[in-house]
Amino acid sequence: MLVAKTVQEVQNALQTRTNTGFVPTMGALHKGHLSLIKKAKNMCDFCVVSIFVNPTQFSPTEDLSRYPRPLENDLFLCEELGVDLVFLPQVSEIYSTDEPKVIPPKFSGFVLEGAIRQGHFDGVLSVVLKLTNIVNPKFIFFGKKDAQQLFLVQKMFKSFFVKTTIIPCEIVRDDDNLAFSSRNIYLSKDERSLATNISKALFYIKENKDLSVEFLKEKALEYLSVLDLEYLSFVDLDFKFQEKITPNKTIVLIAAKVGKTRLIDNIYL
Ligand code: AMP
Repeated sequence: MLVAKTVQEVQNALQTRTNTGFVPTMGALHKGHLSLIKKAKNMCDFCVVSIFVNPTQFSPTEDLSRYPRPLENDLFLCEELGVDLVFLPQVSEIYSTDEPKVIPPKFSGFVLEGAIRQGHFDGVLSVVLKLTNIVNPKFIFFGKKDAQQLFLVQKMFKSFFVKTTIIPCEIVRDDDNLAFSSRNIYLSKDERSLATNISKALFYIKENKDLSVEFLKEKALEYLSVLDLEYLSFVDLDFKFQEKITPNKTIVLIAAKVGKTRLIDNIYL
């Protein structure tokens, strides 16, 4: 397995590759990330994983310095899965000063995560565009766990005519149905048990999707009352808020804090 720290090293290694699969991550790899890597391995001849805790997508009040960085274990997991190249850039390799950045779309980029985490999607879209241009993969893999991010990257690729094909991947959950997240390690045992109310609320809604949104919200709020809820929202596939469920065209999204840990999850109805 090659480990590259510079753009030049990545591009040297990829010179003759035509069927590259790319999985961008912020590290602290878990089974969610691993499912993306496995899919990339299945579909592609050469699998690239980037591990880069992107500073521009964190606001000043967020957990950038506290974000987990278990690099040795991440490299071990990548090696085990047969990743061909891990890209581990320093911040200075990716960013310089006084740069242009991608501005998210006016509506869908500034609701939900975009409303709460100021500047978040500028950072996400800019780094995804940079990394995609560095690796120039045939396929890039994103989890539906970050549904709004996936939507906005799809929109950006379409708007800017990026040739890479996006492969959306299903959310992977632990035995208690909590969606895997690098931030789950912050949870105490009690907090973790409270956090499972997020998926309980989402599954309740999915199982009862014939009922009204109003009723479903009320019921879901009963599960979520033990958490510090930021949003419980129903949107269509363009991230416009919905008062009615359209089967196969509605996503329910939740963001909530459990203690100091902020978690997001969603379900496609
Ligand atoms: P992150 O390291 O959090 O930036 O995530 C890297 C990629 O892994 C993103 O495309 C995420 O959507 C995806 N991902 C994170 N958690 C999960 C999960 N539980 N299931 C599936 N994909 C996930």
